[in-house]
Amino acid sequence: MKKWIYLTAMIMMVAMVACNGTKKEESTEFKWQAEQFADLRILRYQIPGWDELTLKQKELVYYLSQAALCGRDITYDQNYKNNLLVRKTLEAIYQNYKGDRTSGDFKNVETYMKRVWFSNGIHHHYSTDKFFPEVTSEYFSTLLGGVPAGQLPLKEGQTPEEFTEEITTIILDPTVAAKRISLDPSSDLIEASACNFYEGVTQKEVEDFYAQKRLDDSLSGKDIRISYGLNSKVVKKDGKVTEMVWKLNGMYHPAIEQIVFWLEKAATVTETPEQKAALDKLIEFYKTGDLVAFDDYSILWLADQNSDIDFINGFIETYGDPMSMKATWESIVNFKDKKATERTITLADNAQYFEDNCPIDPEFKKKEVKGVTAKVINAAQLGGDCDPTTPIGVNLPNAEWIRKDHGSKSVTIENITYAYDQSSLGNGFLEEFTWSPEEVERQKEYGFLAGNLTTDMHECLGHAAGQLLPGTSPDAMKNYHSALEEARADLFSLYYIMDPKLMELGLIPSMDVGKAEYDNYIRNGYMTQLVRIQPGKNIEQAHMRGRKLIATWCYEQGKDEKIIELLEKDGKTYIRINDYDGLRRLFGELLNNIQRIKSTGDYEAGKELVENFAVKVDPELHNQMLERYKKLNISPYGGFINPVLTPVYENDALTDIVVTYPDDFTEQMISYSNEFSYLPAR
Ligand code: ZN
Repeated sequence: MKKWIYLTAMIMMVAMVACNGTKKEESTEFKWQAEQFADLRILRYQIPGWDELTLKQKELVYYLSQAALCGRDITYDQNYKNNLLVRKTLEAIYQNYKGDRTSGDFKNVETYMKRVWFSNGIHHHYSTDKFFPEVTSEYFSTLLGGVPAGQLPLKEGQTPEEFTEEITTIILDPTVAAKRISLDPSSDLIEASACNFYEGVTQKEVEDFYAQKRLDDSLSGKDIRISYGLNSKVVKKDGKVTEMVWKLNGMYHPAIEQIVFWLEKAATVTETPEQKAALDKLIEFYKTGDLVAFDDYSILWLADQNSDIDFINGFIETYGDPMSMKATWESIVNFKDKKATERTITLADNAQYFEDNCPIDPEFKKKEVKGVTAKVINAAQLGGDCDPTTPIGVNLPNAEWIRKDHGSKSVTIENITYAYDQSSLGNGFLEEFTWSPEEVERQKEYGFLAGNLTTDMHECLGHAAGQLLPGTSPDAMKNYHSALEEARADLFSLYYIMDPKLMELGLIPSMDVGKAEYDNYIRNGYMTQLVRIQPGKNIEQAHMRGRKLIATWCYEQGKDEKIIELLEKDGKTYIRINDYDGLRRLFGELLNNIQRIKSTGDYEAGKELVENFAVKVDPELHNQMLERYKKLNISPYGGFINPVLTPVYENDALTDIVVTYPDDFTEQMISYSNEFSYLPAR
């Protein structure tokens, strides 16, 4: 599970000096934002602490970083079956077109290409709606005509004219692959979604297929705790529903072969035996596709606690699948920020206190919280679904039974949150949407700390808290699972950010940290996150739904007592919290409510909460937010250019690996496509 940055968490600045003076100094010359287009910003991040790594550690990071880049094509193909075809076509145009490259039309196609890179495909990375180049099909055909036929990804025997017809339909026809992930419960989720996890099968067929598989496995005494369907595409072959497994010599073989090649090199320079064991098991999983091996790997990965270097590499998160089963390929290579990790160690050491004192019914609490480990890390390379957009926190593994029996590893990615903060210095956002100067001051003073702490707690305590009643399926919430799970983790951290215990533990200097977080969260959940939504659209993304659910539910529940109040000034709407303790009480109530829904698998109640509070947008407030936001000229979504790691040799011996920070997004994307593209266009 992941936590993504949200807009207003980017505005914390002044506290940085006190929080991390050295980083502040480093930042004076560094250009944090490379460019901005459509609704996207391209940022850069640094790798603090790189030079303190040993040569062997740097070597390990390097091999893992190469493995991280080798899976890029898999993510494209998983997102939509024609994404690689589109990307390769656009790159061929970009690199070969000899006509007027300065025209508005050409620029529009260039922007479209960058958006495709940013989203790993033709659907918006957040809304999952298809987006379009703002040109006519005639113009697009002219561009294709200017590319030598040998440079186009033609099908066998296809003429360039036939190809033009095919690709313009894929790119420009709004009825083709309109949405990557549809969560509309009234439709067949699989048929309505363009993602490439299923083909030629219905939702019912897939549900039956896995129910049968589970039953067969259970009867033959196999381990049925595995994450069914995690690493395969479901298709129909000769009228029979079957799986195409992503593994060596299976689907995605050419990319997986490269990933394995680099992981095997990494396995020769590991820091600890535990790290080596985990890596070896991951390699075995890629070779066999065996989901038992994947669970074994997850457990070994959890056991690797003493290494500085760590990595995520594989089929991990299921947000990309409307059925929440199939995992998108991703990678993050990172190492521990030892100083900042002290903060999360304190939280993890007190995990049992937080579980025992949280406002949920005793039967849903874990009697014994196991192995919650948390650390603050700096990313050294992002890949697959984590590149260019990356989460700011991650908690893994996702398998409920492993979390219960073996715990979970939770991280906050501090060099990424820092880059967000630095790049948004003084952009006017906070001043525009905040009711009082007092709130602005509190936010500036405590917002960064509050944001980092709530991320820590969301990942390390929130997702790990609570338990299912015996017999409750972890998949019971289906299409509402992700939104409810994110809301639950958020509520847990919100409840505790106002707990005096945090002061006692020395984690916060003042209760104003909690107030800053409450202001920020409610303002964002109720109002400002709407700037990420297109006019007329609903809220789809799991974390956004979670925040909307919480803010709206609390506003409605506390209406009579005016716990939260909507205010108007000069035709502008603001939201103000009048009663922070009252709000904390409401957070506790909702947490208990959602925990009960999850623990008992109460699908109907979960559906009702999400549909009533998390999906619909007030069009008037939405328009107002968009208008006010437009004037600030900020793009709401950020993504990153990766640093480049280059080995240095002297007489064939590796002597160093140096980091450089490129600032040209197009150059990096083209170089990835040239150097790390292993899958065919179709
Ligand atoms: Zn989360």
